[in-house]
Amino acid sequence: MTASDKPIYVTQPALPPLEEFTEYLRQIWDNKIITNNGPFHKQLEKELCDYLGVEHISLFANGTLALVTALQALRISGEVITSPYSFVATSHSLWWNNITPVFVDVEPGFCNLDPEKIESAITPQTTAIMPIHVYGNPCNVEEIQRIAETYNLRVIYDAAHVFGVRLNGTSILNFGDMSILSFHATKVYNTFEGGAIVCNDAQTKRHIDDLKNFGFRGETTVVAPGINAKMNEVQAAMGLLQLKYIDDNLERRRIITETYRGVLKDIPGVRFLDDVQGVRHCYPYFPIFIDEQTYGLSRDDLYAALKSNNIHGRRYFYPLISDFPAYRGLPSAGQDNLPVATKLSEQVVCLPIYPDLQLDRVKEIARLIEKQAKA
Ligand SMILES: *Cc1c(COP(=O)(O)O)cnc(C)c1O
Repeated sequence: MTASDKPIYVTQPALPPLEEFTEYLRQIWDNKIITNNGPFHKQLEKELCDYLGVEHISLFANGTLALVTALQALRISGEVITSPYSFVATSHSLWWNNITPVFVDVEPGFCNLDPEKIESAITPQTTAIMPIHVYGNPCNVEEIQRIAETYNLRVIYDAAHVFGVRLNGTSILNFGDMSILSFHATKVYNTFEGGAIVCNDAQTKRHIDDLKNFGFRGETTVVAPGINAKMNEVQAAMGLLQLKYIDDNLERRRIITETYRGVLKDIPGVRFLDDVQGVRHCYPYFPIFIDEQTYGLSRDDLYAALKSNNIHGRRYFYPLISDFPAYRGLPSAGQDNLPVATKLSEQVVCLPIYPDLQLDRVKEIARLIEKQAKA
């Protein structure tokens, strides 16, 4: 087999036409406001509220600082129930707030926190639940809300994968006390780096806005020990321009997803995630799960075979967060507590998906996976 000449990575950032961006830069140079709630920042908050269908949003320099600040804003302490099947930043944000993560297993279907396993993990120290909508598929938000109300817990969603996702016409970001977005280069919507907190009321937004700017309210008043987590004007300008192209980009992702599914559906031992009725998806990743027995090759062997053909998938999320040194000593981190997450993390490979990925290449990748299967 000949390796393709140009490597294909799991993602490639969506970039708008450069000429259009330089126009925004010229405006920044003209008005000489480059950060601190400038005109593009204000405009982006407004336009994102409209596009996403939310009431209150506060922009951040990146998603991780937004997670850390959300926990500060709600004064979360003690223990927080969270998923091991996520990007490390989810648990790191707890660690940076001196909070102990309590890992709860995920459900096998969509890899999200399993609501049935949450209640038995609640202790007198539990103050909140931090689930993540993995691969853009909504958590069981109703059931999580019911548990939170029963035990008087806060819910902070890591919503880094669900830009634009709607559940029965409502933004998924409207569930829970807060949702955190990431606008990192690898996400479906990027501002180079960036992030946001979505919250439910104006007073909370104001508090978050204080916290992301050292706690300043006005010139001489510092109301809280805040941090510097502000989004700058260049990021905000990028965000405004990216909004013009987001629907086209999401449509491209949908078509790529359908193309993968068309070939992969006939390969025994390869599972992928289907669309859920009532959900408007954003297709941020294309994960497949390999059953070694049926497929005839292990996940790692397939991953290596793709790589030798210059196709660079990624094993998101392997290892589990609970397997990293900072967390593996925790009582909840054992594999016996997390059998489903452990199995999924050993089976998963995310295949390349990004708006500029040509459908010919998508089919080639899918056929390569077909060819590797046990004859
Ligand atoms: C990308 C990501 C983050 C971190 O966001 P940054 O903007 O890179 O700081 C957090 N959680 C999840 C699930 C992510 O995918």
